[in-house]
Amino acid sequence: MALRNLVLEGDPLLRKTSRPVEEITPRIIKLLDDMADTMYFEGRGIGIAAPQVGVLRRVFIVDVGDEHGLIEFINPEILEASGSQIDNEGCLSVPGKTCEVERPSHIKVKALDRNGNEFELEADDLLARCICHENDHLNGILFIDKSVDGKIYKTESSED
Ligand code: ZN
Repeated sequence: MALRNLVLEGDPLLRKTSRPVEEITPRIIKLLDDMADTMYFEGRGIGIAAPQVGVLRRVFIVDVGDEHGLIEFINPEILEASGSQIDNEGCLSVPGKTCEVERPSHIKVKALDRNGNEFELEADDLLARCICHENDHLNGILFIDKSVDGKIYKTESSED
């Protein structure tokens, strides 16, 4: 396990569409482990997607600190989305910036776990927001593209 370097806003990698994982190899398992290390580093982040560590594969992880703990998603697909919520978002790849983003308040998502087993998950509120944010990364979309009022705010402490 190891920390990986974060890809930051401005790097064209963050704007690419990631490819599905065809086979869950030891490389993918290592990627998942390293992504968790990177996300938890100094307590930063409640989610991270593979493109944020420079790997253009459809993989992300989240841990919003609820009873689900760490959830790993391989080849995720959002099956249903309903309701609406508006709240502030940030991103490890966009340090020092925040804005208000509208997201569904409820989603149903399916994905593969690290053993290749398909699972479905229903998520609300922060977990739904986080999953949508990470899923956007797989399509080259950043939260700052979705500011509800078009404004991007600077946070007081930049992370790097
Ligand atoms: Zn992000």
